Amino acid sequence: MERKEKLYLVIPCYNEEEVLHETEHRLTVKLNQMIADGLISDESRMVFVDDGSKDRTWNIITELHEKNPLVLGIKSSRNRGHQNTLLAGLMTVKDECDMVVSMDADLQDDIEVLDQFVQQYYDGCEIVYGVRSARKTDTFFKKFTAEGFYKLMEWMGVEIVFNHADYRLMSSRALQELAKYKEVNLFLRGIVPMIGFKTGIVTYERHERFAGESKYPLKKMLSFAMDGITSLSIKPIRFITGLGITLFVISIILLVYYTIGYFLGNTTPGWATIVVSIWGIGGLQLLAIGVIGEYIGKIYMETKERPRYIIEEFLK
Ligand code: UDP
Ligand code: MG
Repeated sequence: MERKEKLYLVIPCYNEEEVLHETEHRLTVKLNQMIADGLISDESRMVFVDDGSKDRTWNIITELHEKNPLVLGIKSSRNRGHQNTLLAGLMTVKDECDMVVSMDADLQDDIEVLDQFVQQYYDGCEIVYGVRSARKTDTFFKKFTAEGFYKLMEWMGVEIVFNHADYRLMSSRALQELAKYKEVNLFLRGIVPMIGFKTGIVTYERHERFAGESKYPLKKMLSFAMDGITSLSIKPIRFITGLGITLFVISIILLVYYTIGYFLGNTTPGWATIVVSIWGIGGLQLLAIGVIGEYIGKIYMETKERPRYIIEEFLK
């Protein structure tokens, strides 16, 4: 292999003091092996991006940076969430390397497939998606909700790679294109497929979290899903509109029906009908307003064009 290009690993970290040493150790072994195999340049690096952690994460990153030349560190000015932190990392290194692989700090993504990512990059892929082959390590609940989420996204017409999280390779060229997507509500999994280019897939088995606990509790997961849906699809609004039209047509039909009934002398008690419709329609209206509000909120946030991340320090 004549081409030895620069690979950077970008790893968002939020309160990951328990896993960082092990992650750094295993990635160092892996990177050195890939360098020795002549697969990547010896200027390849791993970049830990601290997302305003409350524990010793940043101290550990600083220590690792001092003793290991392969380690770089970026510090976000405060907690911004996984997606923005990942973006901060990607945008900071996009001009420093030829390709980037983004991965979690907890070693859930199998690092042994890194060679395959790089191989596909050399075969001309600008984006390579890591796709999980099995969800053995997930709880039934997570499996079920994740499945439902991907199905829902598909139904909404969002192009999304099934069972792909954020373990992916992007060439620096693809990253330059990603930089043009300025939205504040960033849902990388939905945006990256919009970029196009030649893409590839690497399947891997996802491991158990090495230590510590998930930083994605149910509440964060739901808000993540909601962002994904409303930032990429207007189908919910269409759905509500359709529902509104249907209900209106039904009410006209009912009106005609009851009017005719009145003239034919059928008196209906009607109490139940009225109460049920008031509650039903009231509920629907609130739902519709809620959905519209969600989008208006998004517009409001987008128009401010606030920075998506602020970098406090870059150890390079
Ligand atoms: N993470 C982050 N900021 C947050 C929450 C999570 O940077 O506010 C990082 C976290 O350190 C990890 C990755 O995002 O490297 C994925 O989080 P986690 O492994 O907890 O999620 P799960 O794998 O359970 O979905
Ligand atoms: Mg994880």
